[in-house]
Amino acid sequence: MKTLLRLVTAFFVGLTAGCATQTPAPVRHPMAAGHMPATRPTPLLLISLDGFRADYLRRGLSPTLQMLADGGVRARAMKPSFPSLTFPNHYTLVTGKYPDDNGIVNNDMFDPKLGSFRLNLSKAVDDGRWWDEAEPIWVDADRHGLRTATMFWPGSEAKIHGYRPDHWYRYNGAMPYDQRVDQILRWLDLPPTQRPQFMTLYFQRVDTAGHYYGPDSPETDQAIRDADAALARLVAGLKKRGLFEHINLIVLADHGMAYIAPDHRIYLDELINTAHARVVSTGAIAGLIPAPGHTRELDTALLTPHPHMTCWKKSQIPARLHYGHNPRVPPLVCAAKVGWLIVSSRSSLQHNKKPLLGEHGFDNAAPQMRALFLAHGPSFRKHLVVPEFPNVDVYPLMTHLLGIPPQPNDGHFSAVKDMLRPVDR
Ligand code: AMP
Ligand code: ZN
Ligand code: ZN
Repeated sequence: MKTLLRLVTAFFVGLTAGCATQTPAPVRHPMAAGHMPATRPTPLLLISLDGFRADYLRRGLSPTLQMLADGGVRARAMKPSFPSLTFPNHYTLVTGKYPDDNGIVNNDMFDPKLGSFRLNLSKAVDDGRWWDEAEPIWVDADRHGLRTATMFWPGSEAKIHGYRPDHWYRYNGAMPYDQRVDQILRWLDLPPTQRPQFMTLYFQRVDTAGHYYGPDSPETDQAIRDADAALARLVAGLKKRGLFEHINLIVLADHGMAYIAPDHRIYLDELINTAHARVVSTGAIAGLIPAPGHTRELDTALLTPHPHMTCWKKSQIPARLHYGHNPRVPPLVCAAKVGWLIVSSRSSLQHNKKPLLGEHGFDNAAPQMRALFLAHGPSFRKHLVVPEFPNVDVYPLMTHLLGIPPQPNDGHFSAVKDMLRPVDR
């Protein structure tokens, strides 16, 4: 299966990168130095725990997250955007645009001009043309004279509208969590004129364990503990520097995770002749481009009701999913029922000894897709629990915190402003 293959590849790519010499030298944008504003905002650190479902917090395995929630703001949940996949949602978080509007409409894409996009295809991931339908917050921040640094984030490896973060790293899943945390602390140790005001930090293993072992497994529990331990190291480092009460932290996830029974598979080749279509993506959602002359045949086969999947022509996708206008969305989109997976064929599974037991990408209204959201720091209220809100609202919250004007986006600052202390609204 594609997702599993990708995870395995990502693991080995990570290992190789880990053995090579250190990650590339951070890149500085030459324009930034001359544009430093008179007053600098409180530093903002955006932390993503990939695949950390909102209810994982209640397992009692993450005392640091609980401490941040108790001393700050916790949302009952954050609703991801559709499709509830990693790259689309990470880009939504930093642009405020639904995937359909930000151009990263899936982890796996096909564009007639640009070719294929996949997470482990660095040629594509590094190519700004995939990303330039939106402008991530680090670009806005850089334009306004702020310093930016990313300890991994989808999109940070590409030059977008001419900008990269001032400091960035090529993604390397094998980099130990402690090393990632220590890099954040080193950036905070830079002299005031060089210290980044916007930073990101990313941890992937709660997602990886959720895929391989399922959301309710001991392995996922251990991954939650490991992520929490990394955050404990971060908090200790901040306290040691007297910064813990002087930095705004947002800790969130891109999506949740649903259990998938090993036999809950939908085989496309049992429904269509897969030689008559380009299957752009599979998994919780599948995208298909009919081969010339085969549109009607594929429509007839896929648009009829199926017990575990719903397919739409892209123009017919329900409006609440905010999906289907972007040219990169394939003409046919199929969404599996939560708990089911769409795969190309039975034979495509034979390479995989162990089936995936967890997946995401499903309808973003599904409770299993709900994501974590916490915020802590001098700008945030304390002991506050807010209702579920959509992840497009994180971007206007962050531009407000940084004091920069937001780019056009799909979020609403009014929906999140109550998280802030009255003086900071
Ligand atoms: P997903 O297939 O949606 O579960 O994607 C999660 C995977 O995305 C993680 O396991 C990481 O290996 C991968 N990933 C996260 N950030 C990056 C990045 N910046 N570049 C390449 N891969 C990434
Ligand atoms: Zn993810
Ligand atoms: Zn995942």
